Amino acid sequence: MNISVIIPVYNEASNILPLHSRLREVLVNLTGNYELIFVNDGSTDTSLSLIRELARQEPRVKYIDFSRNFGHQVAVSAGIDKAQGQAVIIMDGDLQDPPELIKDLYARWQAGYEVVYTKRRARNGESAAKKITARYFYRLLARITHISIPLDAGDFRIISRKVADALKQMPEKHKFIRGQISWIGFSQTYLEYDRPERAGGESSYTYRKMIRLALDAITSFSNLPLKIATISGFLVSGVAFLLMLYTLYSRFVIKDYVPGWSSLMLSVLFLGGVQLISIGIIGEYISRLSDNVRNRPLYIINDTNITG
Ligand code: UDP
Ligand code: MG
Repeated sequence: MNISVIIPVYNEASNILPLHSRLREVLVNLTGNYELIFVNDGSTDTSLSLIRELARQEPRVKYIDFSRNFGHQVAVSAGIDKAQGQAVIIMDGDLQDPPELIKDLYARWQAGYEVVYTKRRARNGESAAKKITARYFYRLLARITHISIPLDAGDFRIISRKVADALKQMPEKHKFIRGQISWIGFSQTYLEYDRPERAGGESSYTYRKMIRLALDAITSFSNLPLKIATISGFLVSGVAFLLMLYTLYSRFVIKDYVPGWSSLMLSVLFLGGVQLISIGIIGEYISRLSDNVRNRPLYIINDTNITG
């Protein structure tokens, strides 16, 4: 098998057929030997039956049907687990990742790069809020992690068999695949493209899912929030200690101890805030620790036409 294309699908009924024909156009010119792996992530529309129909007509269409919605990153991971290709392409199912770009990705891979990722130059049809949050999130992430995760890059990319095998060995339950691929290393390069609007349907990446992905990214690749909790603890304790000296001084030396309601309230509230934030940060890490310790399977498959 030469190329595997992994496509996570969540309610993409209007996009599957156009995507399939555009992919075929591009891929048959590259190799006779490719597979498309559609991972149906608990769609509630007709996506699954469309994919099954394609698979019936064409043996190189493979599918994995999850028992429920497990999320985009898990769907991509499942595809990587099953992909047979020497080169593996990850792309969205909504035509925001243009199939025609695969030709250039493939050429760079053939030139010897293990990873060719794509950077979004323009993002059409996305809300200003999404563009701004994405822009600043990647810059924040770049500052607080030790590995260099490329700015403005999504998961649309080609990876070599070596990289796919390395990904399969990474056991974490909270996936941030573009970060994991940076962590893996090897020779990497990128292409830039203008990201088109999604062809049909609507984005299912809600703010909730985006925040979860952002927290997964930070907790998987940085311990800085934990350090900030420690440092703020020390700073606050330092100030509290000085205030304590001052309190004792005014109590016993100046004998001035008019009850100070406002200073009391301020310090209680401030300390409470710092403590809660710190506990929250620790909680984010512990909840991920416990998910990894439980070691549940990453996903449950309802049905697939992939054997072995
Ligand atoms: N997706 C998925 N599971 C989800 C949400 C999304 O498999 O829970 C798929 C979706 O079908 C698409 C890709 O992930 O192929 C990207 O999702 P979307 O277009 O909604 O995200 P956006 O492009 O808006 O960031
Ligand atoms: Mg999209």
